Amino acid sequence: MTREQIIEFDKNNIMNTYGRLDLVPEEARGAVIKDKNGKEYIDFTSGIGVNIFGWNDEGWKSAVIDQIGRFQHVCNYYYCDKAAELAHMICEKTGLTNMFFSNSGAEANEGAIKLARKYSFDKYGAGRSTIITLNSSFHGRTVTTLAATGQDVFHNYFFPFTEGFKYCEPANIDALHEACTEDVCAVMLEVVQGEGGVNIMPADYIKAVRALCDERDILMIVDEVQTGIGRCGKFFGYMNYGITPDIVTSAKGLGGGLPIGAFISGEKCSKTLGGGMHGSTFGANPVSTAAAAYIVSKIDDDFLNEVNKKGEYIREKISAIDSDKIKEVRGVGMMIGIAVTVSPKDILHYAFDAGLLVLTAGKDVVRLLPPLSISYKEIDRGIEILEKILK
Ligand SMILES: *Cc1c(COP(=O)(O)O)cnc(C)c1O
Repeated sequence: MTREQIIEFDKNNIMNTYGRLDLVPEEARGAVIKDKNGKEYIDFTSGIGVNIFGWNDEGWKSAVIDQIGRFQHVCNYYYCDKAAELAHMICEKTGLTNMFFSNSGAEANEGAIKLARKYSFDKYGAGRSTIITLNSSFHGRTVTTLAATGQDVFHNYFFPFTEGFKYCEPANIDALHEACTEDVCAVMLEVVQGEGGVNIMPADYIKAVRALCDERDILMIVDEVQTGIGRCGKFFGYMNYGITPDIVTSAKGLGGGLPIGAFISGEKCSKTLGGGMHGSTFGANPVSTAAAAYIVSKIDDDFLNEVNKKGEYIREKISAIDSDKIKEVRGVGMMIGIAVTVSPKDILHYAFDAGLLVLTAGKDVVRLLPPLSISYKEIDRGIEILEKILK
């Protein structure tokens, strides 16, 4: 198919839910994508934090191909070695105890919501099912996770939304105390809000949320779909805060480019879900779990130190750009936000034309989620483009 044909068929036959940019990838390696017309792009997005080892990583590819050579799908009535290995590794790394594998971040959050409500139902009976989430959060696109998302723009058209969510100002512990009425069973938050604008939650706030949840037997759910799997310089972002949530959700980078999500519980609700209470046909797919097991096995302290170093390097380089368009450069690890005085969408388009892929977040933020394995040479190439645009 020609480039023009691909674009035409896509426009005609795929629902128009994404504002697509004019890129038709032909091949890609590391942090460089080549379009069908030969133009190269430096990738500071990793497919929204998914391809965390970059494109075409040899080790990752081998893990996937090896598994495809064995078998592609095992139904969940039988065991799967890769899923067991992956679950064991993640629990060893986190101190959490039990996992459920889904196919996406939204599904992971749906599962976490079910788990929290069941925990509370078992212990306190009906009527204690409200979940508090934060303003400018993002938790997914299903009817329930849209309801969980604390942004009004997501609460249109698709009525009725799932009941039982309440929104609270982020980083304000007094507001959370006030919101924690008798009917609340859980608080769900991102330690760094991704879609909402790379908003970093302060340490004293996260610690106070943990304390409040402990005091009231409210479950603390941390949505690590974007912040997890090394993105924030620790295996999970919450590990930067010295706390352990009751439930953690993951997806995006977990499979390094294959669809997989998970919700993970600590001891407290490890036995809450029993036979027949949750399930997923594709959940724990052998190829996805083999990919994820490879990714997770490679995220050790040395790798995470590199993520932190590269993240600091990127932030320093951007901070050094002399431009009145930059308000603030912030971030944790390689989750980076540049608050700008102009439209971040405009910057995204200029960068795209100049051969650099970036994301936006919130109203005024250019968001960078480069592959965690990106080389310094690739970083420099990307920042050079960004510098030209911002100047
Ligand atoms: C992307 C994202 C989701 C949704 O994940 P999907 O895989 O698109 O369903 C949920 N929470 C956060 C924090 C995310 O960044």
